[in-house]
Amino acid sequence: MPNHSQTHLNPRSPLVLDTRELPRRPGAMRGLSRVVEAPADLGLEMIGVPTGGEVSLDLRLESVSEGVLVSGSVTVAVEGECGRCLRPIDDSLSVTIQELYAYEKSTTDETTDEDEVGRMQGDLIDLEPALRDAVVLAMPTNPLCRDDCPGLCPECGVHWDDLPAGHNHERVDSRWAALQDLTNIKE
Ligand SMILES: [Zn+2]
Ligand SMILES: [Zn+2]
Repeated sequence: MPNHSQTHLNPRSPLVLDTRELPRRPGAMRGLSRVVEAPADLGLEMIGVPTGGEVSLDLRLESVSEGVLVSGSVTVAVEGECGRCLRPIDDSLSVTIQELYAYEKSTTDETTDEDEVGRMQGDLIDLEPALRDAVVLAMPTNPLCRDDCPGLCPECGVHWDDLPAGHNHERVDSRWAALQDLTNIKE
């Protein structure tokens, strides 16, 4: 469960947004574009954002009556392994974020649960929990190097791409068996 308020936010942390420049007047807006380093453990077992990998934030901060609405897109580099053939995956992922952060002591702050609406700490917003949720949710639980990856031959473990058409391990035809005996080819 994300802890929005138990820890004191560090304004220099890359995923903490400072809204001091944003007037607390509904409708006021500020754009925010920055590239930051990914926090650790952002991902799933088979695929994830490498620690220190690039996270590009392209966000809009908008004052609303009870807080700040953060919306926009987040693009991350992802690395992983194909669930069928184990080849490395090197890709990127873009997700959209739209999250409301209530001012401290606003009505929203006092009448909603922290799981429903985010909270501001003074002028600071901790984007990390929302970013984690959005990024992890968008990651495939069974990542593939490509949609039609044929995987590996279960008998010899070679990628089907690297095997000739018709490759199989069924008992060879008796005529070929005879030939193999002659030439001493072992399967
Ligand atoms: Zn694959
Ligand atoms: Zn095979």
